[in-house]
Amino acid sequence: MTVTLTETSSSPVRALSARVPVAVVGGGQAGLSLSWHLVQRGVEHVVLERETIAHEWADARWDSFCLVTPNWQCRLPGWPYRGDDPDGFMVKDEVVAFVRDYAASFAPPVHEGVAVTRLAPAPAGGYLLSTSAGEVAADQVVLAVGGYHLPVVPPYATALPERVVQLHSQQYRSPDRLPPGDVLVVGTGQSGAQIAEDLHLAGRRVHLAVGSAPRIARRYRGRDMVDWLHDMGHYDMPVEEHRDGAAARMGTNHYVTGRDGGRDIDLRRFAREGMQLYGPLTGVRDGRFTFAPELAANLDRADRVDDSAKDLVDAYIERTGTDAPVEPRYTPVWAPETEPEALDVDRIAAIVWAIGFRADWSWVRVPVFDGAGYPTHVRGVTAAPGLYVLGLPWLHTWGSGRFAGIARDAEYLADRITELAGSGAPTGLGRALAGAAAASAAGIA
Ligand SMILES: Cc1cc2nc3c(=O)[nH]c(=O)nc-3n(C[C@H](O)[C@H](O)[C@H](O)COP(=O)(O)OP(=O)(O)OC[C@H]3O[C@@H](n4cnc5c(N)ncnc54)[C@H](O)[C@@H]3O)c2cc1C
Repeated sequence: MTVTLTETSSSPVRALSARVPVAVVGGGQAGLSLSWHLVQRGVEHVVLERETIAHEWADARWDSFCLVTPNWQCRLPGWPYRGDDPDGFMVKDEVVAFVRDYAASFAPPVHEGVAVTRLAPAPAGGYLLSTSAGEVAADQVVLAVGGYHLPVVPPYATALPERVVQLHSQQYRSPDRLPPGDVLVVGTGQSGAQIAEDLHLAGRRVHLAVGSAPRIARRYRGRDMVDWLHDMGHYDMPVEEHRDGAAARMGTNHYVTGRDGGRDIDLRRFAREGMQLYGPLTGVRDGRFTFAPELAANLDRADRVDDSAKDLVDAYIERTGTDAPVEPRYTPVWAPETEPEALDVDRIAAIVWAIGFRADWSWVRVPVFDGAGYPTHVRGVTAAPGLYVLGLPWLHTWGSGRFAGIARDAEYLADRITELAGSGAPTGLGRALAGAAAASAAGIA
């Protein structure tokens, strides 16, 4: 039996079966990587993607976006980086092409334009997916829906005058699409720092609320920091061995850029060149943005993190007797004389909120979430038989939510899926538990 035909893009239109052994939700690099492994193993499956393949890369990045990670780390299963610039950083269109060409290379059973709106255990075993194309029953389900679901904007944003254009970093495209005038960028994670730089380079007057994000140098002692960290085994370290344990999953990424071949992002230099830096934005009062007096501390902290990464590289070089040029440490080129505490709202024409995302698993009605709403799992395997998550930051290692580590995680899950299918063991929650879960999700238990 088939449900409907709803694909939207150039991929071949396929009929979506009402019953499949495995359903993969999400057609980004994570869902595709898993699909590649399932194809190799001859496991029948579908990939359900509500937009198009590589949607996030194509539609949720700014125009001048480029990877922060070097191209050689773009290694999907059966699809290594093939270009002539392994140490470079692909720009947005190249990333989209990399992922879409990957899909074209093995024709995964992707159904584009199919949104999964609800996932619940089926009373008879397995899972039931409610989709925009009808109901689909699956023995096993993989949630490969990325780690960045809902853009965060603070509640006081609604109190700002309508004339101030407000965008989340996900919606920001280019300096010339913002109205003329000063721009306030809030947040200095990877997106905020790069967007502030993008505006600054275009000659826009930028006010930047500096958060507690760490920074890392692009290069040190003759090599990219990523190369050093790779050699030091950092990218193979499982999350359990991380100093912060599972809390690493919620950490903010270090700011640095791959733009123009890659370089540091030095907020102090920006300040010297005219960018106005503030501490974290705390709210809006009496027509003024207010800021915590933490600018100096946050800049110092970011430098300390950079220094500590360099300490590790120095120790590694020493320990292994590696031949590497000596390089002096970073010397701060600017420091605030006072902590700026306020900024008139009237001065600002546009705001870019770059304060991150929150997860939205509300459509997953399977009791596998912890008190904070994070799916409980071990290497992506949840306690509900046959339900998996893939592609989340630090799911297993640093690279789990990036290009670098998705191949390893996808292979691991493909093995678990194949084993479970071969064992004939039931999946889902069983009749009694599935009934209880459904009742609880409906608010009647
Ligand atoms: C600004 C930014 C910069 C980044 N830079 C780098 C970098 O330099 N290097 C690097 O390696 N990584 C980087 N990443 C991290 C990571 O590689 C990307 O987030 C990547 O898109 C993750 O791939 P994914 O397949 O796990 O998830 P996504 O790309 O988010 O794909 C998930 C897919 O699931 C679909 N989907 C979601 N919900 C549903 C549903 N209910 N039903 C059907 N489909 C659904 C979405 O439409 C989407 O296409 C960056 C991330 C961000 C946000």
